[in-house]
Amino acid sequence: MKRRDFVSGLGLATLGACTTAPTGQAARSFAAQLPPVKSSMDRVTRTVVGLRPYRPEGYRLDSETLGDKTVIHNYGHGGCGVTMSWGTATVAADMASAPRARDVAVLGCGVQGLTSALILARRGHDVTIYAADLPPHTTSNVAGVLWLPTGYFDEDVASPQFHDMDRKLIRLAYYGFLPYVNRPGYGVSWADHYSLGRRVPAARDELPGGDDIYPQLSVSTSGNLFGYAYQQRFNALIIDPDYYLDAILKDAQIAGAKVVRRSFGSIDDVMALKESVVVNCTGLGAGALFGDESLRPIKGQLTHLLPQPEITYSYVAPTSEGILYMFPRKTGLVLGGTHEFGVSTMEPDRAEISRMVTGHAALADRLGAVA
Ligand SMILES: Cc1cc2nc3c(=O)[nH]c(=O)nc-3n(C[C@H](O)[C@H](O)[C@H](O)COP(=O)(O)OP(=O)(O)OC[C@H]3O[C@@H](n4cnc5c(N)ncnc54)[C@H](O)[C@@H]3O)c2cc1C
Repeated sequence: MKRRDFVSGLGLATLGACTTAPTGQAARSFAAQLPPVKSSMDRVTRTVVGLRPYRPEGYRLDSETLGDKTVIHNYGHGGCGVTMSWGTATVAADMASAPRARDVAVLGCGVQGLTSALILARRGHDVTIYAADLPPHTTSNVAGVLWLPTGYFDEDVASPQFHDMDRKLIRLAYYGFLPYVNRPGYGVSWADHYSLGRRVPAARDELPGGDDIYPQLSVSTSGNLFGYAYQQRFNALIIDPDYYLDAILKDAQIAGAKVVRRSFGSIDDVMALKESVVVNCTGLGAGALFGDESLRPIKGQLTHLLPQPEITYSYVAPTSEGILYMFPRKTGLVLGGTHEFGVSTMEPDRAEISRMVTGHAALADRLGAVA
């Protein structure tokens, strides 16, 4: 995938249903009132690394018969597995319910496995989750998370059929999260989000899934945050996966799902399961387990800063040094912006930590400098 896909996925684009933001003095005074991110090395609490499970054609969501089993595949969500979870897991659960088997095995305990298991258990299936790693040790725990469908397909490779399905699932995913907003213990809240651009695009595409699922969307070409030439501002959901995964794991267990810690070395291990219906949510693990050679890691790294409760905004900003983004959580600020294609090492990159900390500090210094 090209870098442009990440950026274009953030919705750089014709004024549609959205409004034009205030300009001039009104915008200037607004941005100047935002509290700055205090980004310095002595405020860093930790840096985490994860591998996004990326497929150029987009996530795999289908059903196949293997021996006497129906296997439903739900993996390969790249940089948007949390965002898409209520969409893709609902379809996976529908496919798993179709054979009318009572017992269902769910492979994987990341966000896709947990959401699939929760939906199936609530429907009355006898669900067992089998996974090598459980929260907090999954890739899903590493994620940011800004609810925004980006970074999960290559525009030149994904089919029109994928895009048709994906648009419906983006909307399903969005509405799936709404009941969790500000619910105690789930770690889901609104932020005032800014997607920034260095140039004003000739035309503006709708945001993924349709502009109407981005509340208070406005587009502006002056008076923008950090002095950027172009800005799309809307309310976006921030999801803290550490809270969220624990909460939905508990919900799945309350609904009757069981959890078994187990690593599958080969497809034969899967075929030996007692359940005749298997939902495969093994993320990047699906590559080796089911022989999917299109699955590739995209290494990502996030640096966490001490909390700043006064910060309730988030941003994604392209800079000459690469993309920078910041998402606010109760437990701290999350700084990100690394995408290393095909890299599968789990070592934090010190140069990237430095780029994050100094890059966000430089942006904070430009808070008052509204163009
Ligand atoms: C730095 C970073 C930032 C991100 N930011 C965002 C964001 O802002 N928004 C967003 O939506 N997404 C984001 N993502 C992407 C997101 O993390 C993934 O898309 C998502 O976690 C995929 O979920 P999953 O459930 O498919 O896989 P995982 O969370 O990886 O879970 C896979 C499960 O399968 C199990 N498993 C795998 N292989 C086997 C095996 N052989 N045997 C038994 N069990 C197995 C694992 O143990 C685990 O339980 C980010 C990712 C990274 C790394």
